[in-house]
Amino acid sequence: MDERLLNDLLECSVCLERLDSSSKVLPCQHTFCRKCLEEIVASHQELRCPECRVLVEVRIDELPPNVLLMRILEGKIRAAGCPLRSINTLFRTLLFF
Ligand SMILES: [Zn+2]
Ligand SMILES: [Zn+2]
Repeated sequence: MDERLLNDLLECSVCLERLDSSSKVLPCQHTFCRKCLEEIVASHQELRCPECRVLVEVRIDELPPNVLLMRILEGKIRAAGCPLRSINTLFRTLLFF
């Protein structure tokens, strides 16, 4: 996947911060961080999607987390946790012996 596209996907369009595992996906499939959704409810007494203005009649607590986003985040962590370079080094070490 395109890295830039991935970063856009992982960004909350309200606060422009990186989404984390507490982020929620609205019925319109837009994802925002929980903090931003709570601020919208607090100031407008209702929840409308900041991107498409669709009224969301579900409480924030009842909204599902973004499963796709979680998978991507997990994948990024796993990729970072197991660097390819160390596998290459291991391989090279084995070849030299
Ligand atoms: Zn946000
Ligand atoms: Zn939306």
